[in-house]
Amino acid sequence: MIVPQPCARCGGEIPPERVEAMPETMVCVACSQEMGGEFTVIMTPERISKEGSLKKNYGGYSTRKIRKPIKPKNSE
Ligand SMILES: [Zn+2]
Repeated sequence: MIVPQPCARCGGEIPPERVEAMPETMVCVACSQEMGGEFTVIMTPERISKEGSLKKNYGGYSTRKIRKPIKPKNSE
């Protein structure tokens, strides 16, 4: 069962639907929007061909999500 989580920024409640959709989230919807997104997404080209190969790299991109620092709302 999904239980509501406290928001790390404003102390409010993160709705269970959001926790279910994004289990890694630590802030509520409003705070996430105010932060411009909870995560910074970094895209890295995937290397499929070996180094020095003449083949073109048709690989896609792998994405990494970096959590932004969460400041308490009242200290900003
Ligand atoms: Zn919040």
